[in-house]
Amino acid sequence: MNNPKCLFSSRGDCVKQISGEHVIPNVIIPSGKITVKGFFWCKEEKSVGRKSLVNNNLCEHHNSSLSPLDNFGKDYVETIDKFNKRTKSIRTVEKKRIPYKEYKLDGNLLEKLLLKLLINICTQKEYPIGIDSDTNGKPSETLIDYLYEGFFTYPMGIYMVESNHNIQTKNFVVFQPRVVGGNIVGGLFVFRGFQYYLHLTNEVVDTINKSVFNEDLILGGKLYYRREGIDLKRDGKVLQSIKFEW
Ligand SMILES: [Zn+2]
Repeated sequence: MNNPKCLFSSRGDCVKQISGEHVIPNVIIPSGKITVKGFFWCKEEKSVGRKSLVNNNLCEHHNSSLSPLDNFGKDYVETIDKFNKRTKSIRTVEKKRIPYKEYKLDGNLLEKLLLKLLINICTQKEYPIGIDSDTNGKPSETLIDYLYEGFFTYPMGIYMVESNHNIQTKNFVVFQPRVVGGNIVGGLFVFRGFQYYLHLTNEVVDTINKSVFNEDLILGGKLYYRREGIDLKRDGKVLQSIKFEW
């Protein structure tokens, strides 16, 4: 059935019951804040407690069917924390005595998780979500299908933003939508110390310039499409890596 109250009713397999869902799952930040900027209601940066952000627009089936993405969110956070903890603990150890360590994360799941967060944050707001959506606050069918079974192809997908600013965001997520022609066509995330840009159109982008984001902090930042990994190096030697599998 199509439940008209369910955001993903275009999938056609809804159930009657609507359930509440945290916009940002507690596995990502248990009690922190989300900082949002760039909507009509928050032209300037605005922080909201995670616990107060609940959506009631998915049926129980569509809510629970995306729970693997929340599980991945938990893995992601734990992996980044382990990586950061080891970075600190090997700072004072002699370089040649440190064995190389590699952590792995599924890049496609990270892409889907960020897309789900983008939809959660932008739903019921003033812009259609995706270039081919014509309803304010609703994602296009293409984006919904992608969450369940599709794959983005270049140039759509995740870019890592490399800039000179290292923003530590253990207890908050920063999000800013990119709006072009009245539609949300991407979003910038600062998530556990890393900056990601999720790109949802066919326009080729390689640098954060004013036509992409008018954001002083990261202007000029280079964009790396589906980056293979993040390395911790000391004097040219890689001591540990997080590898994204695509
Ligand atoms: Zn549904």
